[in-house]
Amino acid sequence: MNIKQTDERYIAHTYQRFDVAIVKGKGSLCWDDSGKEYIDMTSGIGVNAFGYSDPVWAQAVAQQAELLQHTSNLYYTAPCAELAEILCTRTGMEKVFFSNSGAEANECAVKLARKYAADHKGAEYYNIITLNKSFHGRTLTTLAATGQDAFHEKFTPLTEGFLYAEPNDIAGLEKLVSENKVAGILIETVQGEGGVNALTPDFVQAVEHVCHENDIIFMVDEVQTGNGRTGKLYSYMHFGVQPDVVSTAKGLAGGLPMGATLMGGKVADVLSYGDHGSTFGGNPVCAAAAVSVLSRMDDAFLSQVAEKGAYIRSRVEEAGFAVSGLGLMIGIKTEKPVSEVLMKCMENGVLCLSAKEKLRLLPPLNIPTEQLAKAVDVIIEALK
Ligand SMILES: *Cc1c(COP(=O)(O)O)cnc(C)c1O
Repeated sequence: MNIKQTDERYIAHTYQRFDVAIVKGKGSLCWDDSGKEYIDMTSGIGVNAFGYSDPVWAQAVAQQAELLQHTSNLYYTAPCAELAEILCTRTGMEKVFFSNSGAEANECAVKLARKYAADHKGAEYYNIITLNKSFHGRTLTTLAATGQDAFHEKFTPLTEGFLYAEPNDIAGLEKLVSENKVAGILIETVQGEGGVNALTPDFVQAVEHVCHENDIIFMVDEVQTGNGRTGKLYSYMHFGVQPDVVSTAKGLAGGLPMGATLMGGKVADVLSYGDHGSTFGGNPVCAAAAVSVLSRMDDAFLSQVAEKGAYIRSRVEEAGFAVSGLGLMIGIKTEKPVSEVLMKCMENGVLCLSAKEKLRLLPPLNIPTEQLAKAVDVIIEALK
């Protein structure tokens, strides 16, 4: 059997794969098993921040793998400590909990908000408000947090205590807060899976305000928007707010599984011994990869992310299509069905994503200008 047949036979059919088997990658290019070359505008869904098999990243990973690959969280390790220091120093947060995925980073955020509320206001203040069209993960709690009914069907009962507000509706949010006992509010500043919808700055600031007024934990899910994707290290930095909790994953370790939940001063001491844990969380190889990734994301790097995002936006808008998103997290409203556009791009050697009815682009943050221009040519041709 070949790759596709073996996969189809033995792997649970939870993913509808494209008819492509990728066998190797280098930077923003990858090749399938027939030798066909693609420009990658997906980064493995916002994961490979520096593209495929980046040499600096690969060396950081290989070096740590040869030194020490895992110890358990019973012992101190250098990469884990160093990464936590970098994350806190660059965000103004106080503490970090490491896990292995976005869903787990959000699970930790929910536990934090509930424990804070139980300690300060009473255990009946357990509700978490999220937004319609949000996406926060696939575990039963993060599915409950995901404000899309389609994901909930047939998996009920989900974790109780989630309420949904309409994005950018400040009055609606205030009403929900006043009528319920609320522990935390969790938002994506740019909804990724929900269709690359950026929230308005007014709304994001109103979320912060309503949280402060009511002693509610303000949480931002930066799983997709974080780690340079939007042209700032974390997307909340565009909005003039300071969350109590930031969850992140995807791009953090540049292609290895790692989640992080960052805690501001208000919640830094909420979790104590035994309240939470993870066998693999803070794994030295993943942490060394993340140290390498974040160390390269200086101001100059982040501004070239913003510039490349602006380049895509202006070219696509010039061609007559509406663009949403921030930095290198881009949504394009298509006239044809998005699946048709995706297939056309793939045929012509460009891998893209979709999010709801939009074409979604999440290219490697260091994609060379020339490859980016070529990919945009192909995308515009496919959109027409
Ligand atoms: C991908 C994503 C998640 C889930 O991350 P996993 O690593 O798949 O668990 C959560 N929140 C957002 C905003 C995401 O984009």
